[in-house]
Amino acid sequence: MDRPTAPPPSVDALSRQIADVALPHALLVRAAREALAAGEPDSARQRAELIARRQLQPVINATGVLLHTNLGRAPLAHRQAARYTNLELDLDSGRRGSRAAHAGPLLAELCGAPAALILNNGAGAILLALAALAVGRRAIISRGELVEIGGGFRIPDVLALSGAQLVEVGTTNRTRRVDYEAALAEGGDAVIVKVHQSNYKMVGFTESVGIAELSKLGVPVIADVGSGLLDANTPWLHSAPPRWLAGEPGVRQALEAGATLATFSGDKLLGGPQAGVVVGQEQAVQSCARHPLARALRPGALVLAALQETALAYVRRDADAIAFWRLATRPLAELEARATSLAAATGWEACQTAAAPGGGSLPGVEIASFGLCAPGDHRSALRANEPPVIARAEGGRTICDLRAVAPEDDRLLETALACAWAPAR
Ligand SMILES: *Cc1c(COP(=O)(O)O)cnc(C)c1O
Repeated sequence: MDRPTAPPPSVDALSRQIADVALPHALLVRAAREALAAGEPDSARQRAELIARRQLQPVINATGVLLHTNLGRAPLAHRQAARYTNLELDLDSGRRGSRAAHAGPLLAELCGAPAALILNNGAGAILLALAALAVGRRAIISRGELVEIGGGFRIPDVLALSGAQLVEVGTTNRTRRVDYEAALAEGGDAVIVKVHQSNYKMVGFTESVGIAELSKLGVPVIADVGSGLLDANTPWLHSAPPRWLAGEPGVRQALEAGATLATFSGDKLLGGPQAGVVVGQEQAVQSCARHPLARALRPGALVLAALQETALAYVRRDADAIAFWRLATRPLAELEARATSLAAATGWEACQTAAAPGGGSLPGVEIASFGLCAPGDHRSALRANEPPVIARAEGGRTICDLRAVAPEDDRLLETALACAWAPAR
């Protein structure tokens, strides 16, 4: 004879049983309800933990990719209290000021330009620059630069959206000055758009025209520099520009070469918050600022404060205050010593690795690094760690690269490594 089954627990009792999961009570109740509805009261904890796991949270980036789009690109520290700010107040006159008056001028000066405007992201910056300067005009661009930047964001679509008339010149691999000249000779108001091929590389039989040449052609040049290397000479570093930066265009250099406007992201090589910057000649930047889209694309005080903090670090030439540069320039010997010590503690093997800048910048470029390796694919176990560790799998091994791991996270990484895999003994 069957024994009568115990009645299922109440939602209230079940949600109290899992109260140690770090979630607000209402979300624990949701997990308990769902578990009871599924006829699996025991699954309440797992369901709650899943809800917690889906929240935005810190992870350890052991991929070796410093600017990983899935991991929020540049890591950034910024704290602020619940205080009012002079966001749009001129403290001297007491009159209405401008949110463009803080980080903007600092970044402009760092690029050697008269003016800059901050937007929400790089895509917003190029969209606004084109909408303000190229609307109703012919926008001349090389076929080699009609690129997709990522996530379906394609330059030809952005140009169409801005109200410019796209005029393609040259071929995919070769575009010459005469191609631009021929397009200009057809008449009508025009601008030239130059897009940095930041996320792919063309090698072999190629030719393109630099900004210096283009800016001699008598029409405004809008340069999407993309990754936001402020100055190719990296005056904020205490040493010469690292070799892996070779060939990456600086914003300062693009403007010196004659670009009317340059646009770039805040969270790539700049190492700041997600933002976009339009920088260049005063009148052109003012046209952007006055455009109705500027309001739709403007960031709030939180982003502007974080960007100002980043800009001030550049003014002080204090690369150590910018997490991206701090990580990117850690000496190889230091990474090796950390790898050796973690290997001794966990049984993983210390190995030489190749890290990358990432973020769609500097394709194919490697930064020498060290990491920990183990046979097999342990990425899922590492992601299950708290905090999650994001590793990469390569040639039948799991690699945890230390280039993008802050040294203060080594103890956390050690625990994660030891739990994910240990050598057979
Ligand atoms: C990354 C990038 C963008 C887009 O910037 P987001 O900040 O991702 O919006 C545009 N153009 C180039 C050349 C880029 O590299």
